[in-house]
Amino acid sequence: MQIQTLFVAIMTLLGVNALKASTYPYTVPSLPYSYDALEPHIDTLTMKIHHDKHHQTYVDNLNEALKKAPDLQKKSLVWLLKNLDSIPTSTTKIAVQNNAGGHWNHSFFWQIMSPTSKKKPHGQLEKAITNTFGSFDAFKEQFNAEAKKVFGSGWAWLCRNPEGTLVIMSTKNQDSPISQNLIPIIGLDVWEHAYYLKYQNKRPDYIKSWWNVVNWDQAEKNFKSKV
Ligand code: MN
Repeated sequence: MQIQTLFVAIMTLLGVNALKASTYPYTVPSLPYSYDALEPHIDTLTMKIHHDKHHQTYVDNLNEALKKAPDLQKKSLVWLLKNLDSIPTSTTKIAVQNNAGGHWNHSFFWQIMSPTSKKKPHGQLEKAITNTFGSFDAFKEQFNAEAKKVFGSGWAWLCRNPEGTLVIMSTKNQDSPISQNLIPIIGLDVWEHAYYLKYQNKRPDYIKSWWNVVNWDQAEKNFKSKV
């Protein structure tokens, strides 16, 4: 087991948000399940390419951008995303926005899926969803609409804002809700690389199928976390 993987496992056991603690040089975290675990909803080849190639590229590009910015190497991933405006040159700022975002978003995405999904929220999150959206089905409908309307590449999210209110929103490219001072609870990657091999142009089918693999235990933890 790699030191970094062991570190993440220990932090997770301790209930510490491992993502918050991660720093340069960044590495792609191992998937918490096998490549084929989310079949038939997310196919094995997509998981392999998405995790091993796409996520790796964000990490490589982030490390490359930070190579020339020693001051930023000491900062955490979350700090970088929350302080994009304090990053000195525009080239570095854009590289960090895209690739720190890509790294954070994907690390989050692997965790928010599970082969043993409970299919619906429970606990405090279930109550908050019902209070905010009327019902779980009404929430899903609104989230699906948000995910479908992302033009080009981006993400759909359920977040908690600083006042504690649940919000459904989307981000373009690899922009992360972390940069907007929001706490992501669940997030769906709607870049074509996330679904094209199996679903081609049928993004709505991918979105519908994705609900079968949402990790609601993790969502409940995210809801209670203070990133
Ligand atoms: Mn992706």
